[in-house]
Amino acid sequence: MGELALSLIGTGNAFAPGGLCWNGFVANGSVLFEAPPQALMALNRLGIGVDDIETVVISHHHGDHFLGLPFLLLQWKYLGRTRPVRIVGPRDTEAIARQVCERTYPTVFDSPVAIEWVEARAGEGLQLGALRLEPVEVKHDTKLVANFGYHAELGGRRFAYTGDSALCEGVLDLARGAEVLVSECSSRADRHDTHMNLVDDMPAVRAAMGAEAELVLTHIDAGVDTGGLARTRVAEDFATYRF
Ligand SMILES: [Zn+2]
Repeated sequence: MGELALSLIGTGNAFAPGGLCWNGFVANGSVLFEAPPQALMALNRLGIGVDDIETVVISHHHGDHFLGLPFLLLQWKYLGRTRPVRIVGPRDTEAIARQVCERTYPTVFDSPVAIEWVEARAGEGLQLGALRLEPVEVKHDTKLVANFGYHAELGGRRFAYTGDSALCEGVLDLARGAEVLVSECSSRADRHDTHMNLVDDMPAVRAAMGAEAELVLTHIDAGVDTGGLARTRVAEDFATYRF
């Protein structure tokens, strides 16, 4: 059983409170969860090889989770990548990426880098090289095609990521199975029906987790702390946590 290293390319919610970068993280230097607008900058800053990213996993299509994809495609087209890359996301992820790029980097798909687009479907496990993923439907923006969290296994370690969600059965399911749960915690006490907060929701998430499991809070507001919860940390931009 190997080490699980999670490198945070950003930890803020959509409003980038206090100057936090938008949320996303890299697992073991090879799997990028979310493509926020600053993804390329943050990978470069962290010293993670952009060409070492084998799989990008998108939870939903809100701009703070998705609009960094054109910059990654640009890098891969022009700066020497030859290996294929895999992009996992809800239905229409490829179509939306093509729509955005048609008006911003029109030739970016005319590239030597082959892209394997993988549609995530709730409850359907995916074996993607060394990565195992199981998308779980969560409660967020019903106007989007889908909102997913993910169970993941990599290097013999089990972790999970909530994506953006209110407290729901999907989040609790993700919490139950994970050695490490990366959970959104969009505010300290403010209540929203599409997000979780620290005061009302995180105790329930923590209670659903195993006693030895680790909780990492992200997609945060600037004032979020651990709330005194056991084995819980507030993620920081550009930090790497090893488990
Ligand atoms: Zn969202």
